[in-house]
Amino acid sequence: MGKEKLKKDMFWCLNCGWTGGSEGTEEPLEHCPNCLASVHDRDREGIECGGILEPVGVWVKSEKEWEIVQRCRFCGEMRTTPMTEQDNKIKVLSIASKPVSSPPFPIERAGELTRLMGGSTNV
Ligand SMILES: [Zn+2]
Ligand SMILES: [Zn+2]
Repeated sequence: MGKEKLKKDMFWCLNCGWTGGSEGTEEPLEHCPNCLASVHDRDREGIECGGILEPVGVWVKSEKEWEIVQRCRFCGEMRTTPMTEQDNKIKVLSIASKPVSSPPFPIERAGELTRLMGGSTNV
């Protein structure tokens, strides 16, 4: 009972299947509190994307303001979403502590490029 009839502010995660609503706030959920992913509805140009925005890092704006950095698996666009009280803290910490595994540019090639350009510092 209950789950068949999704409320307007209900969130259904396409990534992990979590279903629920926001607790204590009127704000609709911007991302899944369980896996921190969301669906990329529209890109900067307003074109529908539909890809999964997966969490790639945590951006600490200030002591009280944490934002989750998400990257679209489909188009690669990055965006941030404010962290909420409901968010899975273990998941947040695992993202915050792990080295960024999918940066917006290939980090492993940065050194290579530097060498190619003669910018090596340890000569
Ligand atoms: Zn999820
Ligand atoms: Zn996208």
